[in-house]
Amino acid sequence: MSKDEGRGARVHGVKTDPAQFGGGRPATRPPYTAAGISRLMCSRAGCGRQAYATWGACADDNVQRPLCPECDVALNVAALEFMGDPDIISKIGEYVETMEAKIGRRVAASWQLG
Ligand SMILES: [Zn+2]
Repeated sequence: MSKDEGRGARVHGVKTDPAQFGGGRPATRPPYTAAGISRLMCSRAGCGRQAYATWGACADDNVQRPLCPECDVALNVAALEFMGDPDIISKIGEYVETMEAKIGRRVAASWQLG
C-alpha cells in the first residue's frame, strides 16, 4: 500500500471522499477486507468517522459503502423500526454490545429507541 491510500484517497481503486456521500465498492467486486474497511471513512453525509462495515442498498446498485459503528447501528435501528420489529431494544442492545467488544470502544448513541 502506498502512503496516499489513506482516508479521502483511492483505496483499492475506489475513490473515497469523506466530505460527500460516496465512496464504496461496486457489488461486482469482492468485499473489503477488515483492514481495508478500517482505512476508509464512513460514507454517510457529514459523518467522517472511521469505517467499520459496509452496507449496500439495492436502489443504489448494491454499491458497498463504508459505515462507522455509530451509523451502522443507526441504520439497523431504522430498519428494525421500519419493519415494526417488537424486540428492537433487546436486539440493538446485544448488537451494540458485540460491536463494542469487537472494536474495543463504546459506540456513541446517535439514535433513539422507542
Ligand atoms: Zn458514520
